[in-house]
Amino acid sequence: MPIPFLPASAHVLERGWLSANSILFLDNDDAASVVDTGYVLHAAQTVALVQLAMGRRRLTRIVNTHLHSDHCGGNAALQAAAGGPASCTITVPVGELQAVNAWDEDALSFRATGQQAAGFSAAASIAAGDSLDLGGLRWRVYAAPGHDPHALMLFQPDARVLISGDALWEHGFGVIFPEMVGEAGFGATRETLQIIEALDPACVIPGHGAPFVDVAASLARARSRLQAFEADPSRHARHGLRVLLKFQLLQQPSIAREALRAWFEDAELVTRTARCFWPDCDMRTLFSETLDGLVLAGAARLDAGLVCNAEMG
Ligand SMILES: [Zn+2]
Repeated sequence: MPIPFLPASAHVLERGWLSANSILFLDNDDAASVVDTGYVLHAAQTVALVQLAMGRRRLTRIVNTHLHSDHCGGNAALQAAAGGPASCTITVPVGELQAVNAWDEDALSFRATGQQAAGFSAAASIAAGDSLDLGGLRWRVYAAPGHDPHALMLFQPDARVLISGDALWEHGFGVIFPEMVGEAGFGATRETLQIIEALDPACVIPGHGAPFVDVAASLARARSRLQAFEADPSRHARHGLRVLLKFQLLQQPSIAREALRAWFEDAELVTRTARCFWPDCDMRTLFSETLDGLVLAGAARLDAGLVCNAEMG
């Protein structure tokens, strides 16, 4: 369905929450580009969706807003389907170029979050202040630190459309990962929200969820959420743990409670967060509390020894 405010050359491919949106740009009659590529478990679906939407055009460029597993998981499959690196380049935020080309899973987030990825290398990078042409329009690149220190946003000033990644969703924003391990991230998040407000977008294409136009309301919700997290950083850390657990359930909608607990106790980001905020709490208790939080929120349900994903109403 066409979305008012969006350029005709842009197509938002939205799926469930696990895979970030892909934004396909029809650059001309022969070529197309895509921004973000979803989670690796959906890679075959991403290739099919992109091929369907671009028709006889060839995919020549993949651009990532940031390199979380749910934004770059289709890079390798899309590039392979397009004929390999000589036909289709991958462009990543400049701060991640070295890590991705060395496939340094410690510097990238996949190992710490216990999430999956398919390896790829990048031929190019973008940085705040750059411009790039997508769908016959010129987009400006803005820094969007907070959720991820290297994240970028893309803004088209004539259409006033913002591709926000996980810096702003209609209802919230992505977990501020540095804060989970006691590193600063709230201030950067606030600055990123200020940048968005100053750009005054008419429409935001978020990393997850449908494009939205009431940006002022979303910014107000985001700021109020941020304020609550800043007042009590442990509240944010608990939220982050629930998000990581929910991500596992989105991947595996029915999983033995003990298997989920084993994943939780083994994930580096979880153990680092625990050490930082609740050094005296044992992991078994922390897992139970995190799972209880998801169940209370309606995001998971327990069925005998299984934990099942539940759709939040
Ligand atoms: Zn993200």
